[in-house]
Amino acid sequence: MKIKTLVCNCKSLADFSKRSDMNTLPSEIEASDLDVDYAIVHPQLCGPGGTRVLEDVLRTAEDDPETFVVVAGCEQEAQRRLFQKTLRKAGFDQSHFVPVDIRDATNEGILERLRKKIEEEVRSRQRRH
Ligand code: SF4
Repeated sequence: MKIKTLVCNCKSLADFSKRSDMNTLPSEIEASDLDVDYAIVHPQLCGPGGTRVLEDVLRTAEDDPETFVVVAGCEQEAQRRLFQKTLRKAGFDQSHFVPVDIRDATNEGILERLRKKIEEEVRSRQRRH
């Protein structure tokens, strides 16, 4: 099982993300006990370049049914709406797409939210199988 983590650092989050440090966050995620494959930051995942990056990641992940793609960014339902087309285009299993709301959190808070979401939506499923 692999967890690929993409973090949004877009302008609309700027007011909320003043408390976080996006330069150090990816390595903090990778060094944590979350056991992720990798973490990257993109300035606007729902923009034209961002959706291409996401699509590439989803297409690669799609070959491995054990892979989950976690996107840390705006509100979860907003992400589902914004990425619906890309998920469909890549033919990616929607239940393996895990949006996490990181607004108004410090790096420590973001790690906690990721931990909670990964526990709820990834590890608990693994235990059921
Ligand atoms: S998905 Fe949300 S956080 Fe990411 S770039 Fe778009 S609006 Fe910003």
